Order: sequence, then structure tokens, then C-alpha cells
Amino acid sequence: MRGVNPNSSVHASYDVAVVGGGIVGAAILHELSKYRLRVVLLEKHHDVAEGITKANSGVLHAGLMVPSGSLKARFNVEGIKLYKALARDFGIAVHNCRKLIIAQDDSELPNLRRLLDQGRANGVPGLALLNAEQVRTLQPNVVAKHALLSEETSVTLPYQMAIALAENAVLNGAEVRLNAEVSSIRPHPDGGYRMQTTAGDRISAKLIVNAAGVHADRIMELLEPPAERIWPWRGQYHLLEEASGTVVNMAVYPLPPKDGSGLGVHITPTVNGGILLGPSAESVTDGTDTANSAAALEQLQREAFALVPALRGFQTIKNYSGVRPKLFGPDSGVSFKDFHIEPSKAFPGVINLLGIESPGLTAAPAIAEHVLEQFVAAHLELSPNRDWQIRWEPIPRLRWLPAEEKQRLWRQDPAWGHILCHCEQVSRAEIGRAVANPLGAVSIHAIRKRTHATLGRCQSSFCLGPVSAEILRRGSDIGMVRRGTPAHPVFTGVEPA
Ligand SMILES: Cc1cc2nc3c(=O)[nH]c(=O)nc-3n(C[C@H](O)[C@H](O)[C@H](O)COP(=O)(O)OP(=O)(O)OC[C@H]3O[C@@H](n4cnc5c(N)ncnc54)[C@H](O)[C@@H]3O)c2cc1C
Repeated sequence: MRGVNPNSSVHASYDVAVVGGGIVGAAILHELSKYRLRVVLLEKHHDVAEGITKANSGVLHAGLMVPSGSLKARFNVEGIKLYKALARDFGIAVHNCRKLIIAQDDSELPNLRRLLDQGRANGVPGLALLNAEQVRTLQPNVVAKHALLSEETSVTLPYQMAIALAENAVLNGAEVRLNAEVSSIRPHPDGGYRMQTTAGDRISAKLIVNAAGVHADRIMELLEPPAERIWPWRGQYHLLEEASGTVVNMAVYPLPPKDGSGLGVHITPTVNGGILLGPSAESVTDGTDTANSAAALEQLQREAFALVPALRGFQTIKNYSGVRPKLFGPDSGVSFKDFHIEPSKAFPGVINLLGIESPGLTAAPAIAEHVLEQFVAAHLELSPNRDWQIRWEPIPRLRWLPAEEKQRLWRQDPAWGHILCHCEQVSRAEIGRAVANPLGAVSIHAIRKRTHATLGRCQSSFCLGPVSAEILRRGSDIGMVRRGTPAHPVFTGVEPA
């Protein structure tokens, strides 16, 4: 079953339409697929997880950084448990790296104690204050006078979870329509709503879940004035070469800045082995503005190297940025706003999820359960989809397999021995599995998220050709081979057949 046919528009009716294929929309679709409902997810990009979900720190927060009693605290603490359980079910890597929040002098100790108390009030296990000696024993390269240890904090590949959730939902009967930007929503006189997409789809739905990330206010505005305005705040990153992971293997955070702009420039080990430095926190006017700037990138290095000077010698292999959908602007005097997850009063059957910034990745599975129980169940009879099961399997990552398993695969199919991406050691068989994904997403970025091909040190300089050739070999038209959006074709001067 394929999630989408990008070349044809549909006129179809659903029980629930989810707008936005980030981690939140995908988690909601996954929950909905467990019931006998007709459900569709509409995503404007060429794949799921192309928005904020693709560009963040990938940290599963334990829940100590958010005020007690908030939705953020509740969904964070519930969410990390659910996320880890989902990762076990799907076979997705979660690395329990743990976290240190650093105080550089005695005057900052009360702030660490405040976070410790907040964490305990939120029900976070595994917290302890450490002195300089204890920090040195754990992480000899970290400069600290005191630190707060969080045992629960882990790292993950956020886009892999979003893909697993969306693809498993499709394998259980849900639909995903890619390249389908919702452009209008109208209430229908007989009940429910009519939506139109830029792909020409006309979708009727009894219920609408607006999970459009940094543009969720715009989706709400298609029906009514948004309850909250979204203020985009960009966060830029350095991804350091893989060997940087030998310097530090825990997440290392400063105390968060008081303006509520973010958690401060931190150092995060990635599931792949390299270290992330970032993010910055800059208010921008456009939610799609993911540019990088030299000034911010230099500032990130200065702040990160103050915490871990030994990282100085390692090269950046990639810069990127993500945009936080905050509910307050830079000069508002506000330093905290909670998630806004509210059914519309004027338009029954529509729920808007606004301001799903950090810890939204960690919280997503708990948000999804909440939307199902508090919103969908209030409108629709929920009868279980008895055939539902975990049908999704991760694509085996050749590089991480033991030698005997590699040999078994090589004997089974020589494509496992034909390496197309040498930095990440990705085989032709892995690319083939990724191209056959249930969503029908075949851009270079879609293959990258599913296999890590083009993600290594050469950043596609050497492997773009062989990976593109494999996409072509598997049936795509040459003009359709793109890095991401239609604006980024790999082969220029050719038209789709
Ligand atoms: C710099 C940064 C660091 C972060 N670090 C962490 C972290 O370490 N841990 C953590 O828990 N959280 C973190 N977060 C927060 C987390 O990444 C987000 O809360 C989460 O990814 C939000 O997911 P989402 O599904 O709401 O949004 P998105 O992933 O952006 O998904 C929304 C989707 O809606 C689609 N869309 C928009 N408009 C339309 C339309 N008209 N029609 C159809 N589709 C549309 C978009 O294309 C997009 O794919 C971080 C965020 C940032 C920016």
C-alpha cells in the first residue's frame, strides 16, 4: 500500500484529517490508525519530517526544564516514557547519553538547585547535584564548578520516529498525502469541513487536527482569527565530524538564559556519533527562514568551547537550523508560554495545536494520546482496528551490523555488498528499501533520512550521483530526482517525461 500518488488529486471523505506531517501529526495519525476510522494526513512537503522535526537537537528531555503544572511538563514527562516504548516497538535507536547542566561558579548553584526542585516536582527520576570532582570523573573534558545530572536524558533521530509513525499508520490503513499544502478550509452545511490543497485535492473531514508547526496559526486563520500568533525563533547548529564524539559522550548544557528564548547553546552527542553545537536563538520574521549566519555560528562555537574546550580541534561537516514556533516575541517581556492545544470554540470538530516548541519532540506521543482521548473520542465512536499491529521495520543499517550478519546479507543479496555512500557505508540494498517506502517519498532527502546516505563527511559530494542513479534504476523519472522540493532538481535541463 502506498501513502500517496503525487501525480493525482483526490476528492475523498475522511473521519479525521491531520494537517502537518511532523512528529506531532505523525504521532496523532499513528494513534488514529488503531481505530476503525478513515484518516488522512496532509503534508505540504515531499516527505514527512521536513519541518521542525528534521532540524532540532534530537534530545529526549527528562522534564526538569519546564515549569511544574504546565502542559509542557506533563506531556514531557509522559512523552519520554511513551517515546522510549515506541522506539523499542519499532526497533529505533535511543541512546541514553544522560545530561549535565553546568554552573561555572558558586553564584549559579541556587539556579541548579531550583532546576533540581522543579524536576523533582515534575516527577523526573535520576537527578543529582555534582561537584567539580564528580563532573571531572564523568566527563574529563567538561569545564564545570557544579553540575546537575539527569540520568534519563537521551538522544534520538527525530525524523526516524516520525517516519516510523507515519509509515506504520499507512501500513495499517491510514493515508498520507504528500505535496499537499492545505490552502482553504470551509465548514460544510451538512457538518464537517471541506479542505482544498495546492495539489488539487478536495478533502471532506468530520474532524480536523491542525498540527502545522510553525504555520499552525496560518491554518487556524483559514477559518478564524488565530488564538495565538506564532513567533518564529531560529536555532542554528554546527554538526561536528564523527571523531568529536570521543571528547564528550553526555549532553552538556549551560544554565538556560532567563529570556526564555531556549535552553542555551548546548553540546549534544548524536545517535550517529558526531557532536552537535547549538542552537542559537534569534527571532526571525519568516517561519521558513532556516538560513545560517557567520556571526551566529561563531558565537555558538565560542559558547560551546567555553564548556568543552577540547572540541575546538574538530571540523564542522554541516550547519543547519530549525525554527521554534514560539508564542511570544523578543520584546514581549514574556519568558514562558505553554503549549496551546485547544478545540476551536467557533468551529466544533477542529483542534489547534499552537506553540509546539521544545520539548515538543519528546512530548509528541503524549500529545497524540491527549488529542485522541480528549478530542477525537468526544466526537466519534472509537472502535478498535483489530488488525492493527506494528508492521514497520527499520531498514537494517549495514554499518552497525555485526560481521556475521553482514556476511549473511551479502550471501542473500549482493546489493548489500555494493556500497554507494562511502562515508556512512550505505549499500545499494538499503537505498532500494528506502525508495520502496510506503509513503512513496523518493527525494534525496527522503532517502537520506531513511538510510543516512549523503549525511556523512562528504555531505553528498561523492555519493549524490550513485544514490540518484539508484533512485532512477528503481523507476523514477530523471526530472523527478530532487534533493527535496521541486526547486532543487539533481539533474538540471531535463523535464519530467
Ligand atoms: C532549534 C530547535 C531545537 C529543538 N530541540 C528539541 C529537543 O532537543 N527536544 C525536544 O523534545 N524538542 C525540541 N525541539 C522542539 C521540537 O523539534 C518540536 O516541538 C517538534 O519537532 C514540533 O513538531 P511538529 O510536528 O509540531 O512540527 P513540524 O515538524 O514543523 O511539522 C509541521 C508540519 O506541518 C506542515 N505544514 C505546514 N503548513 C502546512 C499546510 N498548509 N498544509 C500541509 N502541511 C503543512 C509542515 O510542512 C511540517 O512538516 C526543538 C525545536 C527547535 C526549533
